[in-house]
Amino acid sequence: MAKAKGLTKEHVVGLWKFMAKKYNFEVVNKRDSGIMDAIGVFLDTMNIQDKDMFMDNCAVTISTMVKNRVYVPFEIGEADRVSLAGQVKTCAHEAQHVVQHSRDWMFNAKYLASDTARASYEADAYRANMELEWYLTGRLLSPAGLANNLKAYSIGAADRKIAEKHLLIASKMVKEGYIITGTSKSAIGYLRRCMPLMRGYHPIGVSKKRKGARKFKIAHMIG
Ligand SMILES: [Zn+2]
Repeated sequence: MAKAKGLTKEHVVGLWKFMAKKYNFEVVNKRDSGIMDAIGVFLDTMNIQDKDMFMDNCAVTISTMVKNRVYVPFEIGEADRVSLAGQVKTCAHEAQHVVQHSRDWMFNAKYLASDTARASYEADAYRANMELEWYLTGRLLSPAGLANNLKAYSIGAADRKIAEKHLLIASKMVKEGYIITGTSKSAIGYLRRCMPLMRGYHPIGVSKKRKGARKFKIAHMIG
């Protein structure tokens, strides 16, 4: 796994605080939440996600009209279970689900009832993962690999293929340095302010071979 140079616990803790305020969500550690077990059973019963997989590995966002909560399976800033870069990506990914909910009050129903809708929402949020991986490490996450993750959300092959195509198009833009997901822009904006060495482009210490990775621009014309 590529390392995100210069990223510290303080950056990650600060980022989550910043994003929680900006996108209006609370962060809860899954271990501290009594309802997580019930939600795990519910998702398992709905054939959406295996309960053990859900409890150990997945962050989840639950949005209602009054409150958004992001449940995380790690201690923010502690890299023992999930790397710091992974925590940054999770932050933007889950914030993107909050945005999706704010755009469409039927989000929860569609997400639970339709594999196609779930694949589309997840592909949109995985775009944020891809953009941040690029920003932090100069590496491109594989669209096929990300689409493959959707198996864990009980998403069938046809919908995974569509998600992969969506992410493939996204990857072409990311490779050109375009960051278009709003939550990625916010996260990168925060990191650029607190990590001055990264300002202007990514990544630090880029090799000649990966010179293209120096290109970095926030694309304002889309999204
Ligand atoms: Zn997601």
